Amino acid sequence: SSWDQPNGPKIIQSLLSTHSVAQTANAKAYELMSNLVGLCELVRTTGNRSLLKPVLIAWDDIVRRRMYITGGTSLNEYFQKDYYLPNEGNVSETCATVTWLQLNLQLLYLTGEPIFADVAEKIIYNHLLAAQHPYSATFCYFTPLSGYKRYTSEMNCCVSSGPRGIALIPTFAYTLASKSICVNLYNTGIASLPLSPKVTVVIHQRTLYPLDGGVELNIDPSHPVRFALSLRMPSWCPKAVASVNKGKPIAGKPGTYLSIYRQWRQGDRVTLRMEMPAVLIKGTHTNQGLFAIRRGPLVLCADEALNPKLRPITMAGLNANAASELKPARRTGTGAIRERVFAAPGFMLERQNGGAVKPIPRTVFLIPFAEAGATGGRYSVWLRAPS
Ligand SMILES: [Zn+2]
Repeated sequence: SSWDQPNGPKIIQSLLSTHSVAQTANAKAYELMSNLVGLCELVRTTGNRSLLKPVLIAWDDIVRRRMYITGGTSLNEYFQKDYYLPNEGNVSETCATVTWLQLNLQLLYLTGEPIFADVAEKIIYNHLLAAQHPYSATFCYFTPLSGYKRYTSEMNCCVSSGPRGIALIPTFAYTLASKSICVNLYNTGIASLPLSPKVTVVIHQRTLYPLDGGVELNIDPSHPVRFALSLRMPSWCPKAVASVNKGKPIAGKPGTYLSIYRQWRQGDRVTLRMEMPAVLIKGTHTNQGLFAIRRGPLVLCADEALNPKLRPITMAGLNANAASELKPARRTGTGAIRERVFAAPGFMLERQNGGAVKPIPRTVFLIPFAEAGATGGRYSVWLRAPS
């Protein structure tokens, strides 16, 4: 194929031998991943599943060595050396974030494996939505985990990629297979799904996800019909329980689909409860000595606009119990970001009169990364760990 022409970049051969996207072609993130999206299309067209092998090698390499905890990838538009994930600067070009989402959706469609929906969820609720201003149509070209967001409406590649990425979200929220409907992404909405030429199933979903793990689904088939409703159990979720019409609870297993096969009739109601604990993430490699907090699928972030006593935010830290003690907080910070705030015990490194720098106990106020920096201030996902 043209991927392996004699004077070409030999993308397939290179991935099979180096197992590294950073050592393949010119390592430009969105270009390389666009080629892999094309390879997935070729698998679908030809049925030649051996072409999936280099794609899965690239996927595994990105997930293990080149993906930020917020789902983004690349620095200065290129894949970098192993585990090199600086938080400031030209992090995750929005074109790369969107192409990485496309690649995960392709792999979900071709394999049906929920791990690809897990990564897609991580990208969407964190890095992709972080690239767009929460209350306008402006987008960032790069979206660092620490620093400032530079939203713009000028015409560039990322300002056009970003909306295309967001437009992809509903396309995979539900997927259809023979005699089954998969629910891949939780959010409030209505879907009308053609299960067969004769039967349409309308699903009304109500939830506060991703802030809350409770989901209600009304299942309304046009005729009574047998099929499996397969609910994705996110891999971050330690415990999830579903029930139909308030019947016997059915436990789900993280990282799988919980499938309920039965005859569905109009008015059936499924309730799902996913536990949504906050977890402390300990930094490694370029984040050695730093902590971050993830709550359910959302990576949290400290924004200076909510933390006037933590300036500069780069001198602030989280205690070891910051995740277990995380509480919802009412904070009247500036403008639009006063909802969805959490408080965690932490500290600020302050210089004392004598000159020594000491940690002073402080509450750290956190919001989802997607909303941080929206008022123009500095923010940081990774904060200092106690020394
Ligand atoms: Zn771009």
